Amino acid sequence: MRTYSVKTPRWLPRLFPKEIVWNLHHSPSVYLTFDDGPHPLATPYVLDTLKLYGAKATFFCIGKNIQAHPDLYNRLITEGHRIGNHTFNHLNGWKTTNADYLKNIIKTHRLVAHKIFRPPYGKIKISQAQKLIARGWKIYMWDVLSADFDISLSAADCINNVIPNIQPGSIIVFHDSQKAFPRMRDSLPAVLDYCRQQGYHMEVLPLASDAYNTETNNPH
Ligand SMILES: [Zn+2]
Repeated sequence: MRTYSVKTPRWLPRLFPKEIVWNLHHSPSVYLTFDDGPHPLATPYVLDTLKLYGAKATFFCIGKNIQAHPDLYNRLITEGHRIGNHTFNHLNGWKTTNADYLKNIIKTHRLVAHKIFRPPYGKIKISQAQKLIARGWKIYMWDVLSADFDISLSAADCINNVIPNIQPGSIIVFHDSQKAFPRMRDSLPAVLDYCRQQGYHMEVLPLASDAYNTETNNPH
């Protein structure tokens, strides 16, 4: 049985603090995001592919992977993409004390300057989110999930998870990881083709200090 939803249901964000961002539906652009890298095989593929389409994306990196692949991390930055924090060890917030969770995020923050964060597995306690928000962090979830991590799916399934659910301002999740690579590799170009045909700009997620008021998009 699937334990995830490819389209975030409208009621789900209401369970979280209103500062958590699920989409930017007031924006005409779409926002591609890649979690869990940098990865020596998947990340260069994503970068080469994005370049073909003139697309920018946000990479929610794991601290230990940044330490292992500093060259790839630098390439992400020099090619104009944005880096977000995804903890140092891909921690599950539900199974981690608040103190340990914050410590792990701060450890990664020494490598990643921006205070934008995505919780691994989407699992964060309300109390953890509140502590981050109080310290000036912006937390990004998503409204469209490719589910490229699901080895029971084909690339065609991932395409079908994404394309019919894209709206202006959608935040779309892929993974630059070993596990997701075959499905990500074979579905990403179709998604980029579609976005280009629809005339969407593909941009990096805004920082807390950017002009967009990312808090206006919430259904509260
Ligand atoms: Zn992750």
